[in-house]
Amino acid sequence: MTKQTHSFQAEVAQLLHLVTHSLYSNQEIFLRELISNASDACDKLRFEALNDSSLYGDQPNLEVRVSFDKAARTLTITDSGIGMSEQEAIDNLGTIAKSGTKAFVEKLSGDQKADSQLIGQFGVGFYSGFIVADKITVETRRAGAPAAAGVRWISGGTGDFEIEQIERAQRGTSIILHLRDDAEEFLNGWKLKQVISKYSDHISLPILMEKEEWKDGENDQPGEMVKTGEWETVNKASALWTRPKKDITDEQYQEFYKAISHDFEDPLTWSHNRVEGNTEYTQLLYIPAKAPFDLYQRDKHAGIKLYVKRVFIMDEAEALMPQYLRFVKGVIDSADLPLNVSRELLQESRDVRLIRDGSAKRVLSMLEDLARHDKHEVAVEGGVTDVVSEEDKAKEGKFSRFYAEFGAVLKEGLGEDFGNKERIAKLLRFATTTQDGLNTSFADYKARMKDGQEAIYYITADNLAAAKNSPQLEVFKKKGIEVLLMTDRVDEWALNYLQEFDGTPLQSVAKGAVDLGKLQNEEEKKAAEEAAEAFKPLLAKLKDALKDRAEDVRATSRLVDSPACLVVSDGDMSLQLARLLKQAGQ
Ligand code: ADP
Ligand code: MG
Repeated sequence: MTKQTHSFQAEVAQLLHLVTHSLYSNQEIFLRELISNASDACDKLRFEALNDSSLYGDQPNLEVRVSFDKAARTLTITDSGIGMSEQEAIDNLGTIAKSGTKAFVEKLSGDQKADSQLIGQFGVGFYSGFIVADKITVETRRAGAPAAAGVRWISGGTGDFEIEQIERAQRGTSIILHLRDDAEEFLNGWKLKQVISKYSDHISLPILMEKEEWKDGENDQPGEMVKTGEWETVNKASALWTRPKKDITDEQYQEFYKAISHDFEDPLTWSHNRVEGNTEYTQLLYIPAKAPFDLYQRDKHAGIKLYVKRVFIMDEAEALMPQYLRFVKGVIDSADLPLNVSRELLQESRDVRLIRDGSAKRVLSMLEDLARHDKHEVAVEGGVTDVVSEEDKAKEGKFSRFYAEFGAVLKEGLGEDFGNKERIAKLLRFATTTQDGLNTSFADYKARMKDGQEAIYYITADNLAAAKNSPQLEVFKKKGIEVLLMTDRVDEWALNYLQEFDGTPLQSVAKGAVDLGKLQNEEEKKAAEEAAEAFKPLLAKLKDALKDRAEDVRATSRLVDSPACLVVSDGDMSLQLARLLKQAGQ
């Protein structure tokens, strides 16, 4: 085969331009991404070889080697993983398969700081090599393919790449970075080791570098480090989640999160446990600080990686986490599942059900813990005592941050996870007519209820202003009764699944004939009845005139200033939901 030139998918070309321009301040992450790809490639080989051990050929070791050549100004990352065929190289290194990529690229503004945040949430992976390189050569050979079926891929990271067939003695992939002038610092063994231990200590494969030793210069020449030809492992090479908690620092937990999530920011919190009982597994679960760009993408899968006895099985194992917790990232390592478990099998497995239930409960506990610490008041006794530990203090404000990013997704749980409905309901926060901010829980509301009030009242609307100014609220304002203001799209649907909170019914103020019960005194009730009686002839006329458009016309005591308002029957969709469905073309 002769050399062929291919164009990058348009989005890749755009992304590459931005990667090289906006990730400059975070240069060293390229090494994390490329080592993580090398490690993924080894995981994939190990997995395929479960069914076909001949794929190992005469090279049983799975490892990553990092080397550099000062004279040629290249840095090379070589793995003995699965490798790529020609077509795979064209597809994997020329396009981005992630859904929503186009929409994502359109969001990029050209503003360095904003973009680097966004790109962080998106994950640039392989293309991050172009942060430090003005040319990348990839040489690769798929495991099981003959030496003559090697592939060389070359690109300068602009519009296109070249690809040709080569001889390659060993399987796996070498990524050869031709470094830019401003990335010279990576031609240094000490610097590389430092970056590797920061970002890749948790990788379970050995990462090897050639040993160097100092050699004095001769004839007045300065001395230098020279390679010895002997290779040494420079990372810890044990999977992070398999180590005892006490041996893992916060920084290591955070770096591991960044490696598996591609997020640039630290997570809000995490939880690492070994679970024993009906099924045995280790879970390391993280709650991100920021929602990813594709949180509402229909095919967005859970961020959980599944391992079985430390062997990587699959990414995005959606069966291990309910949909409404799809923002959670982490690793689950099961001791009981079979190694050849497929996505289909996962759906039916009893062990998986137990793991999913256990994981959902764990996430809810993490959130409850953050919620408890959210508004921590530092107890000051006698003017000096500060009884709040550093650890507690670090959790302050985190729940509010979580809620602003993921609150709407959490609400989906009311409809999805009946077993945990109560716990989810306790975590919800709302705006309300009597308080500022998005921080009233159902329990707070209940504590403020008027004597004789028998329901938790709420209203749903497109936005806060619309909710606050709704004529439905008039009588509640007049009587000083608090009403929760719900403005997330999902509220209407989710609240259908929550009839009551802690024994108190929930009542939409926009549905049916709102019964204020004991809140209305005898006089008011009588006045309302008399009015209804007096208006009977008028109501009959109106009802007749509106007969095709309104089911009923009633006198009401819910209005104070407005002459009329629309309501729906108790069992019907509210106007808000009807509007949403209409917008969605239903
Ligand atoms: P991701 O790792 O999230 O899939 P990347 O941009 O990092 O995205 O990599 C794109 C794809 O290129 C990978 O999914 C994989 O198929 C392929 N790839 C990258 N590096 C390697 C490698 N060292 N060995 C084999 N395949 C690789
Ligand atoms: Mg990757």
